[in-house]
Amino acid sequence: MFESLSERLGGVFDRLTKQGALTEADVITALREVRVALLEADVSLPVARDFIKRVQDKATGAAVTKSITPGQMVVKIVHDELIRVLAGDGPADALKIDNPPATILMVGLQGSGKTTTTAKLAKRLKDKNGKRVLMASLDTNRPAAMEQLQILGTQIGVDTLPIVKGESAVQIARRAKTQGSLGGYDVIFLDTAGRLHIDEVLMDEVQSVRDIAAPRETLLVVDGLTGQDAVNVATEFDGKVGISGVVLTRMDGDGRGGAALSMRAVTGKPIRFVGLGEKMDAIEVFEAERVAGRILG
Ligand code: GDP
Repeated sequence: MFESLSERLGGVFDRLTKQGALTEADVITALREVRVALLEADVSLPVARDFIKRVQDKATGAAVTKSITPGQMVVKIVHDELIRVLAGDGPADALKIDNPPATILMVGLQGSGKTTTTAKLAKRLKDKNGKRVLMASLDTNRPAAMEQLQILGTQIGVDTLPIVKGESAVQIARRAKTQGSLGGYDVIFLDTAGRLHIDEVLMDEVQSVRDIAAPRETLLVVDGLTGQDAVNVATEFDGKVGISGVVLTRMDGDGRGGAALSMRAVTGKPIRFVGLGEKMDAIEVFEAERVAGRILG
């Protein structure tokens, strides 16, 4: 999807560049194609419209239409605007993990990559920052999910809270906090239960856990391939639970730049990390410059 957007933009601006001087009508025609490309990459309609309007205001000025390389100037304006929206207030800060043990609450729908991302971030903090990390699964509905976190923990050398059958999510969160303090851990990851769809039971549970856990960060994990749905999920979770950032998974391969753009524009929440595969090292800090570059090609 990154490719199709960049190819389309490349094609449009190639043609413009070859024409030499550009009229305002040329710019508007080109931007219409950019708009279609954004929509095809799953950028939501209002976001695409707004984006194009701002680019149009900047691109129809005399400096652009009279320039020798108008196509390139338009590309630069599109690029700069992409960065502006994607980066928001600035680069994504490192995770807030001062005052140990710092709790990081992981939330999201089932299958979004929450458990995998929890383990990836735990490994990263252990390897890169030398932190002692404890992970706990709160997914009382799915014993398999609890075991999955335990298996990943063993694989990456990060402790997991022992599984005690019959406990509620809130009880597990309490035990994790206690164990985190007693065990001298720097960071506690709470991997909450996901559901296939957002429902009240899920939100109530996450809210109760949040109240007990007092997290420093609440990271929403969303599947970057789900486009507009990802944005709706983020809006819901932010409204009900309050999130401090987003992790977009499955940005490897077919990842859509569109989800990142809409996510940032609609929710105003920073995208902190991107998941780039199934392996435990396949996670990177979100970089607006890089994503904009990939969108444009
Ligand atoms: P959860 O239900 O939200 O906890 O989802 P899981 O962590 O179990 O992930 C579901 C599937 O998605 C697993 O097969 C993961 O390996 C896979 N997965 C997670 N993150 C990524 C990613 O960034 N890229 C790819 N390609 N697969 C991912």
